[in-house]
Amino acid sequence: MFAEPILHVDMDAFFVEVERLRSPKLRGIPVVVGGAGPRSVVAAASYEAREFGIHSAMPMVEARRRCPGIVIVPPDHDEYSRASGIVFEVLRGFTPLVEPVSIDEAFLDVSGLRLHYASAAAVAMGIRSAIRERVDLPASVGIATTKFVAKLASEEAKPDGLFVVTLEGCQVFLDALPVTKMWGVGAATAAALARIGVATVADLRSCGERVLGRELGPSLAGHLLALATGIDPRPVVPESDAKSVSVEETFETDLTTGSEIASVLRGQADKVGRRLRRAGLRGRTITVKIRYTDFRTITRSETLGNDTDVGAVIGEVASRLAASAWTESAPVRLLGVGASNLVGADEPIQLTVAGDDRRRSLDAALDDLADRFGGDIVDRASKIVNDPRSRGH
Ligand SMILES: [Mg+2]
Repeated sequence: MFAEPILHVDMDAFFVEVERLRSPKLRGIPVVVGGAGPRSVVAAASYEAREFGIHSAMPMVEARRRCPGIVIVPPDHDEYSRASGIVFEVLRGFTPLVEPVSIDEAFLDVSGLRLHYASAAAVAMGIRSAIRERVDLPASVGIATTKFVAKLASEEAKPDGLFVVTLEGCQVFLDALPVTKMWGVGAATAAALARIGVATVADLRSCGERVLGRELGPSLAGHLLALATGIDPRPVVPESDAKSVSVEETFETDLTTGSEIASVLRGQADKVGRRLRRAGLRGRTITVKIRYTDFRTITRSETLGNDTDVGAVIGEVASRLAASAWTESAPVRLLGVGASNLVGADEPIQLTVAGDDRRRSLDAALDDLADRFGGDIVDRASKIVNDPRSRGH
């Protein structure tokens, strides 16, 4: 078990950095993204601009006053959501337990990755370099035992860094913070706290429940005292459509035979199994998706008696579902397999299915090869023999 399993991934000056990919001349200078009109505000500021005290949500007029030479780039939200989509794809490649906070920010629970990485920091390094590789953008990562502290840690990590608040170091880290950094402390609460001499988290803790309760009401006082001692029971909650692990492919050449379809599904099921195992999860509901050349799309699902992370089991269910759905022998342009209804692999399996253990050890051997040589090198022979020309996922 990682002692600090929660990551907060936050892209640095996201809109600005996306613009810099297209216009390298924007690098190293004060830049803001935003409208140029009299009432527009700064949507994002480069770190060079921040040195002038410019920050997002500041009126553009004010930004110009502080830095007359500042370069203003009009926003291109389509481009930002495209980049964001890739970033989230990278994150979900590590674990499906990704909770988006905004277009460029997310919480991840990486406790399921403990068999594959030495520490949560190693996962974070992997994430940062994967994002660099895919979109060449800087991301900062905060690592901690809770969401609240992980978010504070990513602020410390910025720009383009990584910061771990260990379980042991958490209280010291929190104590030094101004109370205004706490969730639930707005201007009014901060003023009330200042009246009783509370400026830092340490002050707040030494104040005690009764005094705080009198000042702020018992519910807010209890909430703040819990946060102040590092207690934040909120779990990472993935978006509903991310509560599944799935793989799909669109084919260059349509599939026309049942054996081609079954072979592709087996390969996809192996990938789904591998991703589940990497994330320390098992799925209970298996879904296949079939899209015909006329774009009609059908999906079929089956909920199993047991949850599984075994590729061969997923493949069998997927093939069976596809065989019963693909009745008209129409050419197929896309196939997909998914597992949903996910549970942590730590939860006990209620029954052992005969042969499951043997298959699981085969899968473990395949995972090993995939780890050493990259995910796509390992495919079952049946898939390689009958591989259609695919054009990506
Ligand atoms: Mg950000």
